[in-house]
Amino acid sequence: MTEIFSDSEPVVVGFLQSQLETAGIPCFVRNQHTDASYQSVLFWPTLCITDEGDLDAALSIVSAFALARKAGTQIQGKDWECAQCGERVPASLGECWNCTTPGANNEP
Ligand SMILES: [Zn+2]
Repeated sequence: MTEIFSDSEPVVVGFLQSQLETAGIPCFVRNQHTDASYQSVLFWPTLCITDEGDLDAALSIVSAFALARKAGTQIQGKDWECAQCGERVPASLGECWNCTTPGANNEP
């Protein structure tokens, strides 16, 4: 089992899981039913592959997704709450509109 991706939004992890399954890569999501109010990355839904032989293919799908997401073509997501000031920030924004703190659900 190899962890390849995690995100605070279960919908994002689920989307990637379906992408991998479409590509014929066996995978599953850990922490799928975790309460989203957990802030720690340890409790984020995490996409895992069962066969390390699929690692390269899986990572290429994940990185393509990350790039597309950064480019603004991200899938439907939920608004997030700024950890710094507590404002609601639209899912399409990578950082808080109020205080420019980077979003917790965005890649570094
Ligand atoms: Zn803020």
